Amino acid sequence: MALDIIHVDMDAFYAAVEQKDNPELQGKPVIIGGTGLGDRGVVSTASYAARQYGVHSAMPIKEARKLCPDAVFLPGRMERYQEISQCIFEIMSRFTPRIEKISIDEAFLDVKGCHRLFGPSRKIGKKIKTSIKQELDLVASIGLAPNKFLAKLASDLEKPDGFKVIREDEIAEILDPLPVDKIWGVGEKTEEILQNQGMRTIGDIKQFSEQELTSLLGQFGHQLYKLARGHDDRAVQVSEECKSISHETTFRRDLQDSEKIFSVLMALSDKVGRRLRKKSLCGKTVFIKIRYGDFTTLTRQTTSPQAFYDTKTIYEQGKKLIQNHGLLDKPVRLLGIGVSSLIARHHLQLSLFSDQDGAVAETVDKIKDQFGEKSIVRANQLIHKNSKQSEQKEDS
Ligand SMILES: [Mg+2]
Repeated sequence: MALDIIHVDMDAFYAAVEQKDNPELQGKPVIIGGTGLGDRGVVSTASYAARQYGVHSAMPIKEARKLCPDAVFLPGRMERYQEISQCIFEIMSRFTPRIEKISIDEAFLDVKGCHRLFGPSRKIGKKIKTSIKQELDLVASIGLAPNKFLAKLASDLEKPDGFKVIREDEIAEILDPLPVDKIWGVGEKTEEILQNQGMRTIGDIKQFSEQELTSLLGQFGHQLYKLARGHDDRAVQVSEECKSISHETTFRRDLQDSEKIFSVLMALSDKVGRRLRKKSLCGKTVFIKIRYGDFTTLTRQTTSPQAFYDTKTIYEQGKKLIQNHGLLDKPVRLLGIGVSSLIARHHLQLSLFSDQDGAVAETVDKIKDQFGEKSIVRANQLIHKNSKQSEQKEDS
């Protein structure tokens, strides 16, 4: 079994974001939760300093205040956490498109097939951890294992600031002594049933047959039998929002004329923008793909702090990438552009971006929907006939 599943889980995420934005809170007990009005509500995140007082998530704020009266209590800023979350997912998406989002600060990555580009899984995991630290000044715990269950368990074992690998030959040694509630899916009720039968550790579960476990727990018994042995065949299910929208085209003859290339880039950007708008999505990352005559292929990307969905921004970011990286120094065979770090547009505050470009683009879309693709053409686009095929992609 290959070590191809990575579980990324941010440490005390909401509290850590508050500490990053306000360095005075660094190292202090910080408790996020409640409404900010009195003591109603529960703790959603406690910093590690607050956890030392026994505060944990889902605890009533009132109780947390008793345990740790000197803590800084904050109501939380969901929009800010979403924003940072997108940056974290953008970092992960540099290594693989196969990402399953579990929550705002947690995901599974399947890195099978990524090794030729990025090296062994361990190296990819380290790179994700250091990129998150360097770029966002936040700490992620990473678990690396042959499957989802073990990867999630691994990221938890050395938290905070963990990096834990569970190899196949270590499964029994690591799992057997752990309490049964370390198994994903074993809640209080199941734990009680298991304990009544004398099962306290994962090793204890292995003393029971599959039939005994199913007669105790129904369907879940089958799963528990496998999980106790570290077996889990659930695949990473790629989340919609981690995908990207892109278009690319292969030229009939290799091209080096920048004016022609940029006019094709505009046409491709327009297609990408139109699909974004149709799906009511916007994105923060623009990426460029270029393949040269000798088949070497490069991708470059840039992420903006604000999300966009208009053709002009996509094109301008793409053009800047090509120019800044000096990508037109030899003839180009294939050109592609795409947008990732996608979010639904209703998550955006409209006032956050100049809506002029978006509004113009939507009007043009409507005209094209009604009168056909070529009814309106941008002046600098003047349909470039050299493209022999155009491909639309949704999860490159
Ligand atoms: Mg977390």
